[in-house]
Amino acid sequence: MKELKSCYPILEQAKAHTHIDSATYDAMYKKSIEQPDEFWAEQANAFLDWSQSWDTVSEVDLKAAKINWFSGAKLNVSYNCIDRHLATKANDVAIIWEGDDPSEDKKITYQELHDNVCRFANLLKKRGVKKGDRVCIYMPMIAEVGYAMLACARIGAVHSVVFGGFSTEAIRSRIIDADCQVVITADESLRGGRVIPLKSNVDAAVADCENVHTVIVVERTGGDVAWNDKIDVKYEEAVANLPAVCEPEQMDAEDPLFILYTSGSTGTPKGVLHTCAGYLLYAAMTHKYVFDYKEGEIYWCTADAGWITGHSYIFYGPLANGATTLVFEGVPTYPDAGRFWQVCEKHKVNIFYTAPTAIRALMSVGDELVNQSDLSSLRLLGTVGEPINPEAWHWYYEIVGKGNCPIVDTWWQTETGGILITSLPGAVDMKPGAAGKPFFGVQPALFDKDGNTLEGENQGLLVMTGSWPGQLRSVYGNHERFYETYLSQYPGNYFTGDGARRDEDGFYWITGRVDDVLNVSGHRLGTAEIESALVLHPAVAEAAVVGYPHEIKGQGVYAYVTLMANASESEQLLKELTEFVANELGRFAKPDYIQYAPGLPKTRSGKIMRRILRKIAENDIDTLGDTSTLADPAVVDNLIANRIVHG
Ligand code: ATP
Ligand code: MG
Repeated sequence: MKELKSCYPILEQAKAHTHIDSATYDAMYKKSIEQPDEFWAEQANAFLDWSQSWDTVSEVDLKAAKINWFSGAKLNVSYNCIDRHLATKANDVAIIWEGDDPSEDKKITYQELHDNVCRFANLLKKRGVKKGDRVCIYMPMIAEVGYAMLACARIGAVHSVVFGGFSTEAIRSRIIDADCQVVITADESLRGGRVIPLKSNVDAAVADCENVHTVIVVERTGGDVAWNDKIDVKYEEAVANLPAVCEPEQMDAEDPLFILYTSGSTGTPKGVLHTCAGYLLYAAMTHKYVFDYKEGEIYWCTADAGWITGHSYIFYGPLANGATTLVFEGVPTYPDAGRFWQVCEKHKVNIFYTAPTAIRALMSVGDELVNQSDLSSLRLLGTVGEPINPEAWHWYYEIVGKGNCPIVDTWWQTETGGILITSLPGAVDMKPGAAGKPFFGVQPALFDKDGNTLEGENQGLLVMTGSWPGQLRSVYGNHERFYETYLSQYPGNYFTGDGARRDEDGFYWITGRVDDVLNVSGHRLGTAEIESALVLHPAVAEAAVVGYPHEIKGQGVYAYVTLMANASESEQLLKELTEFVANELGRFAKPDYIQYAPGLPKTRSGKIMRRILRKIAENDIDTLGDTSTLADPAVVDNLIANRIVHG
């Protein structure tokens, strides 16, 4: 068994580089809590350009589900992400695009970004799109997805980006829910060498959406697509003669900026609504401080534009800060599982931000592919999306970062707009598996289920006792659902749906989703803890744990494990894994059953969907619930076929 260090002190290189050292963090955090309006006013002036200042900084009543930041102020998000940089950065690279095929890439300067966004905005106007109208964006990861988002922001239209890997039904339901009248797509997309027929998926989706009057089609592959002259518009032809200037619409701080559906790990996706000023301020500020971004650095977030991470940390945050942001069209395993590292070497990436699911997958194929690339440009590594198992953290730190790059774990949600809990690289020690400490203005608390505050070292439900500028304002078209889902449980507080533990140093450890917590013989166990123990075993690449009803213990522990590429299944290994968990956590945490899983059911953004695994463990396979956001439904069939029927 490998001993992993449980705490790494702040790295010297991080101290030398940082905007925020420990003392600054303490002072700024204190001010952000004690004098929030003064604090946020200062930040708002430092980070954004406003055409009119605010009357009030914050007016928030969580009990009444009313959240207003910077009321009375005016600004434009695309102006802040582009125009204001032109005086000094017109020829600096805004976007590095790396294609699915390693031979394809291109660089887009801030001036080019400006011109393309303006033309796109003019096209939207020409098709009758006005401030407040909703536009659905269903695109590959090409620069045009950014142009489309920023063009919407420029004219005040509200975008709803739908992940380009979703099928017809997912697009249709999102178009209808947000009542989008325009869809922006591409002929086809390329992912891992495979062609995905985006336009034909859109055709099928809009066949039932009578309000859609325009489908703008960007050419990506040049493949054959069906054409309907009434609504289809060829992007390249349509923008060719449009002016490269478009006056940005002056928006109220609280005007909607976008709708984005959650990934659906726990239920039906919700149309999370974010507004202009607070969201952009929060995205820009967290991008700068969490990644310790400095001018001239190359920054790469591997998320897709279809997720909040893509919104805040590929486009809005980095561009608001005038950064160079890398947009990657492909997948981590194409042409081979060394692709991430090859791209880091090729573009001399300094800051690299990805998800535990990708780290675990790349870890399972071994170190050799990492070592084949020159990763000396890397300065900082980030992770988001799920709790990272210490074993994976360690691999990321040692093998990818060569012990030289701080890792920032970043806990946040579609609903939070930006990172809420993290280990600021120059200010906070790193504890593998811990999300870290609250960002400025963020007030986490742990509650028991009756809403009592748990003090000190403790474990409970993670809530936020106050607002921050990046908070969602509503669920689109359903303010009641907004209130019910997040604000009704503990009036006056925002309920995250996650559980957490706070340690003796005030670090927060996310234990998993509250719905997934196990209660075994009176012990409350977070899924993350047992999973991390399993992943620690050298044969295990990934694990998912759920509870099932157990006559004596209340709940039993049912584990699914995916083995490392070089390990093989055996009865002996099952026994070994069971004992291994008992040694790590105690006998009460021992899995009752372990099933080998060649793959785990995941959302398209790579999160394990435990609610489906729970059904399989309970042998209740007829009602699996909403599986429309599942990445690979075949995985479920395999798990059902090989399930362990018990009890
Ligand atoms: P839905 O709300 O529809 O069930 P979802 O919660 O998966 O979907 P997202 O907003 O994409 O949708 O994910 C946010 C969740 O991801 C968090 O609530 C948390 O459970 C998990 N998460 C994100 N980052 C981290 C992290 N760094 N550590 C632990 N968990 C994380
Ligand atoms: Mg959620």
